[in-house]
Amino acid sequence: MQTQHHPLKSATVGTSRSLTSLHYSNGKPGPKVYIQAGLHADENPGMLVLHYLRPLLQAAEDAGQIRGEIVVVPFANPIGLNQTLAMQFHGRFEFGNGQNFNRNYRDLAAMVTPLLEGKLGADADSNVAKIRAAMRSVMAQEKAVNELDSMRLVVQSLACDADIMLDLHCDSEAILHLYIHSDQQEEGAELARYLGSAVTMHAPASNGQPFDESASGPWAALREAFPDAAIPMACFASTVEYRGQKDVSTELATDDAERIFTYLRAQGAVDTGSLPVRPELPREVKDLAATDVIRAPVSGIVEYHREPGEMVREGDALVSLIDPLTNDRHTLVSGVDGLFYARNRIRFAHSDMELTFVSGDKVVRSGYLLSAR
Ligand SMILES: [Zn+2]
Repeated sequence: MQTQHHPLKSATVGTSRSLTSLHYSNGKPGPKVYIQAGLHADENPGMLVLHYLRPLLQAAEDAGQIRGEIVVVPFANPIGLNQTLAMQFHGRFEFGNGQNFNRNYRDLAAMVTPLLEGKLGADADSNVAKIRAAMRSVMAQEKAVNELDSMRLVVQSLACDADIMLDLHCDSEAILHLYIHSDQQEEGAELARYLGSAVTMHAPASNGQPFDESASGPWAALREAFPDAAIPMACFASTVEYRGQKDVSTELATDDAERIFTYLRAQGAVDTGSLPVRPELPREVKDLAATDVIRAPVSGIVEYHREPGEMVREGDALVSLIDPLTNDRHTLVSGVDGLFYARNRIRFAHSDMELTFVSGDKVVRSGYLLSAR
């Protein structure tokens, strides 16, 4: 395993931070896999999963079983890890400009399109090699303008030529769920099988440029830009939401790490001499636009009536908001039949706060589907 240190651009004189990436390889051909955790620094379940994944990868490397390269970034956001304000740990938004750490990655398709004019043809493998070379080239020329930008530049540069990219996050209070690109539903279902995810939701590019879309989205965009060329979706990317923020435990993380390792075996990134048994798909992939989100129409004390992981029916009461002065109660019901997979851990709602998320079959939303949270 090779360790690489990536110094970030200093924010102010006398301060410095760096990112560290761990590179597992036996020098054999195979896919490049990139896995990071803690891009939202206050989302720590995935960081513990990587703690337990690392010895599995090291043992595989020691046994000569790694095919291609597996890159692990144990914590992707040293800026956010240092964000304590009034005894509260933050880590989701950069304090200086308020930007979400998981938005505004570079639009690689736009950057490489001018370099690829007239160079792509009917050979998909050749096209992928040319596109990746162009991506590495343009990223190497980028200059970070500040510390946050340099953090984004480092992780996107490490991931831009990966075949598989897993970005480990978590929700507020939730069961395991996955986000994938709409053009990768089969690949997403494979990941869901091995990770045991009952909620896998697809969406086309959102234009918010979150990290997962910065890895998979360029391939979809380049297909549109070069309709006559053979361009596969060469990078499968997923945001893996490892339940809720408090779901950091030995039991969960060891199981999750073993599941990622088994997935890597199934994908040919680790060759232990046999393929793993392919698990059942817990639940089919759903459209993210079919997720019903209840927002608080008024402020109030939050009283939930259902738990994440429960199947609910349209019209079922999910949450009530209680005005502590008038004692009025607003009860809010699910707009769809589906799986209640996430809810806000905050128990006092300000108006318009997102409260509950139910994944159904009926498209109920349109437009920008990402949360600002
Ligand atoms: Zn997150």
